[in-house]
Formats: sequence, C-alpha cells, structure tokens
Amino acid sequence: MPQTFEYTWDTPAYKGKTSFSTGLFIGGKSVDAVDGETFDVVNPTTGKVLTKVSIGNKKDVDLAVKAAQKAYETTWGLNCPGYERGKLLMKLATLMEEHHDELAAIESLDNGKTFSWAKNVDLPGSIQCIRYYGGWADKNQGKVIETDEGKLAYTRHEPIGVVGQVIPWNFPLLMLAWKLGPALATGNAVILKPSEFTPLSALRMVLLIQEAGFPPGVVNFVNGLGHVAGQAIAEHPDIEKIAFTGSTLVGRKIMEAAARTNLKKVTLELGGKSPNIIFDDADIQQAVDWAAHGVFWNHGQACCAGTRVFVHENIYDEFLEKFTAKASSLKIGDPFGADTYQGPQVSQLQYDRIMGYIESGKKDGATLHLGGGRIGSEGYFIQPTIFTNTRPDMKIVREEIFGPVGVVIKFHDEEDVIRQANDTHYGLAAAVFSKNIDRAFRVAHRLHAGTAWINCANTLNTQIPFGGFKQSGIGRELGEYALQNYSAIKAVHVNIGMSI
Ligand code: NAD
Repeated sequence: MPQTFEYTWDTPAYKGKTSFSTGLFIGGKSVDAVDGETFDVVNPTTGKVLTKVSIGNKKDVDLAVKAAQKAYETTWGLNCPGYERGKLLMKLATLMEEHHDELAAIESLDNGKTFSWAKNVDLPGSIQCIRYYGGWADKNQGKVIETDEGKLAYTRHEPIGVVGQVIPWNFPLLMLAWKLGPALATGNAVILKPSEFTPLSALRMVLLIQEAGFPPGVVNFVNGLGHVAGQAIAEHPDIEKIAFTGSTLVGRKIMEAAARTNLKKVTLELGGKSPNIIFDDADIQQAVDWAAHGVFWNHGQACCAGTRVFVHENIYDEFLEKFTAKASSLKIGDPFGADTYQGPQVSQLQYDRIMGYIESGKKDGATLHLGGGRIGSEGYFIQPTIFTNTRPDMKIVREEIFGPVGVVIKFHDEEDVIRQANDTHYGLAAAVFSKNIDRAFRVAHRLHAGTAWINCANTLNTQIPFGGFKQSGIGRELGEYALQNYSAIKAVHVNIGMSI
C-alpha cells in the first residue's frame, strides 16, 4: 500500500492541512510502483525531505497504457459523449475551487513559489483552464465541405486515443491543467508524468479526479524520473501522441524517441530567452514594473521570462536606476510569509545551475550590477540579480538561466534592437514598451516570437494560444488552438450522385 502524506500549515499566510496517497495513479487507483521504488521530495525552503513518493518505470507505464486503452475503448473516447466529458471537467473545476487554498499551499510547499502567487495566479489559472475546456467538450466539431462533384464530404474531430504528457516543475498544477483540459475535452485517455521535483499537487488532484467521477483509467499519473518514466512514455508504441513541456534539450530527446518508435504526434512547449524592449517614449515606471515582473516573477522560473531587457540609450540611466530600486525592494523569504515576493528556487540542482550562470557572467566580463549571491544558509534562495555591460556572445545573454537573473542592454534605434532581439534560437515571447502605437504594433509584428506583449509582460489567458517560434516549441497550447493537438481529423466522403 502506498504511504499517505500528511501535512499541517500554521503560517501567517495559510492555516490548514492536507492528506493524500503518494502512490502512482493507475486505472483509477493509487498503487505502489511495480519495483517499489520511491523518490525523496525536498522542501526547497529548508532543503529537507518532506516525503517519499512512488516512482515508476517502463513496467508501470505499460500498466498505465493498458488501463488507458481499456478506458478509451469502453467508457471514454467515442463511447462518452462530449457533453458528459464536459460535465466531468466542470465538476473537477468546482472541486478544485472548493480546495483552492489547500492546493495552493501544496504547490507553494513543494515548489517554493509564494503562497499568494499560487493562490492568486496558479490556482485561478488552473481552474479556469479545466472549466474552459469543459465548455469545449461538446463543441469540437468538424465541417461540411462542398465539392463540385455529386458528393457530400464532412470532417469529424475524433480523439487520438491514448496520449502521453510530460510536464515541468515551474507551474506544476497549471501545466497539468493545460495538458489535461484539452486532452480530456477531446476524448483522449491520458498518462501524465509530473516533474520528479514537484509531484505533490498532482497526487492531491487524484482524490478530486476520483470524486469528480472520471471512469478509471481515463487519467493516469506516473511519477518518475525523466530518463526512466518520461522516456518510457516517449517511446511507448501504444501511445499515439505526446505533449511535452520542458527544456529544449529534453524536447529534442522526446522527438527523437517518437521518431524512433511509432512516429507518435509531438507537441512541444520549450524554453525561451525573451526580449523586453523599452523605447524612450515609454511610460518608464510602467516599463520598470512590468520588466521586473518579466524577469523576477516565479523566481525567474518562467519559460516566457523577459530576461533580456533592451533599453533605449536616451532613458537607459533613468530606467536602470528605477529598475534597480524595484528589484532591490522585492522581499525574498519564506513562501508562506505574509508579504514575500520571491521564495527559494525549486532545487539544489537549479540553485547550482543559476549560480553557475552568475559566475560565468562575471568571468566573461559583464558588470554584476545587483545581487548575485545566496540568501540565508538553508534552502535555495538567490538574490534578484542584474547584469549590465554584456556582449551578445555571453552565455548569460544567449542561454536560458531559469532563475532571477536579467541582463539590461542599451540600444540605439528600432532596427538595431529588432536585430538584437531576434538574435536567438528561441522564440517564445517578447515585449515592447512604447506610447507610439505605430511603433509598438510595427515592432511587435517583426519580433520572432509566439507571443508579443505591448506595454505588459508575462501575462497569459486560458483563451489565448501560447507556444513558440523557432526552438521554443511546436504547436500551441490554450485556447481553441489546443484542441487541434488532441484531435484526429477524419474526412468522410459520401456519394450523392457521383458516377465513375
Ligand atoms: P526538463 O526538460 O528538465 O524536464 C521536464 C520534464 O521532462 C520533467 O518531467 C522531466 O522529468 C522530464 N524529462 C527529463 N528527461 C527526460 C527524457 N529523457 N525523456 C522524457 N522526459 C524527460 O525541464 P524542467 O527543468 O522541468 O523545466 C524547465 C524548462 O521547462 C525550461 O526550459 C522552461 O523554459 C521550460 N518550460 C516551458 C514552458 C512553455 O510553455 N514553453 C512552460 C514551462 C516550462
């Protein structure tokens, strides 16, 4: 029998408790991994082990696929009308609402993000997403297509079948919602692997999925290591599609595994090194506030983080002074503190990676303008960090750091900054600050990015598609667009008078 995790909070931000199984979720039940393996879940605020969770391997993924196939062929897929699937998703959203603060507290405990952000951003975003796709479940319809022969043709949007989903640790519940919502609305059965660093919110969701009444096997969670359970999902011959969110490096491996095995359909949401461009006609304080949000939100652990801040030379000094003041004012500490802005990074691994980038910036000759150090002696806290006087070839300018580290770069004119902003193999997002509407639109349209913000940054909505140009991904999540990722389009031709 899998262990139960129990936890009680008595903090300024939240008082409450939780209790759930740490097993794998296969065929509607919480079970031990076949080989009995477990993995330590570490509290990033203290660096101490919170609990152990079961982790699966190929054998567990095989069992999950069998359970998903059975559900797909009997109670789900074409056997369950869209309206019924929608009702289940709506019920799940309502149950999440009823457990809103508890889920936020689990997310904060496991990931290190502040309770207030988890409560006010991650949870509403996750709940809206599940409910939004609940609304789509009976509206994913095909078309009638006219031809000039004696023929009626129409398309059907059928489910794909059993789909695999592998998600990261930076927004564990939100990424789970972005994945489950469209996959279930369109009638697919799911095997999802959370990140080994943040498995807890998915485990709490198991109870809500059961309570909502999803048939057993429709949703399966196999916690596990990336190169074991993740790879087993990517390689599985009976998984027809894989959706992955994570690093570009692993995205490449997922595609290779899919190509090598059964050519499963692949969608990828990958990394970024997004530019944020501030012209001299911008509202400077507005730009400062959004730029800080762009770099430091979620401790810099956002794929769309605007970590390359380009500032026009006429306002560079004023911007830098205000931006520095803003970054210095951000309160770092216990995620359950009443007014904490930034908690710890998620893990020792990420802490070491970020510190490595900070060292490389110094070694390459950039100016460490602010921060760069550790805070406290336990947990993984890093100061908000700003580099200036960088060169385009430096690692801190080119590579995704995924921590609270930004570079501020001076530019001369529009052509110059568009060229610099597009000088990256990523293309996830970009922001432009200008009060000149002609310029703002013109520049937004010329940036190579799947999302372009004008006079804001890092703001996403369930209804608006999100995804990357270039090596930031393939396909779009959210909005109506995400339904395509999980639909198999069938064209039906009917002879109504055509002869050979
Ligand atoms: P990661 O690529 O290391 O891991 C992501 C997931 O993949 C985890 O569940 C991990 O266990 C699994 N994995 C690792 N190796 C695997 C393998 N060989 N086969 C199959 N699965 C494997 O990424 P991370 O460190 O968890 O997350 C950070 C990255 O995610 C950043 O690059 C960030 O930009 C990206 N991200 C992108 C988006 C987006 O929407 N574009 C959103 C969030 C995060």
